[in-house]
Amino acid sequence: MKLMVCRSCGDVILMRQEQRSCWCGASSGRYLDDRSTVEQSAGTLSIALDNTGLRDAVSAYDAAPDGWHPLMVFRAFLNPLSESDVRYVPLSAPPTDADAER
Ligand SMILES: [Zn+2]
Repeated sequence: MKLMVCRSCGDVILMRQEQRSCWCGASSGRYLDDRSTVEQSAGTLSIALDNTGLRDAVSAYDAAPDGWHPLMVFRAFLNPLSESDVRYVPLSAPPTDADAER
């Protein structure tokens, strides 16, 4: 699961196949049809969530939601620019599937 961070307003946006924008409008992004690659505004950050860890944390929460438990912790990391499934595009040129085929 990938999230985009707008460095102007600080919004953290869950990427979906539909184009999504941050609160200030400076950043937007979406998943491409391969459901793995995201295209998002240049200058933003990409966060990858550990999906298994998140699922386990939700299970721990559901089992005992009234108190904190170490299993409620899950990992996330910033995708480096070298990550091939995160593409950065200028905001003035909204990403398209045709762009992904280049
Ligand atoms: Zn913003």
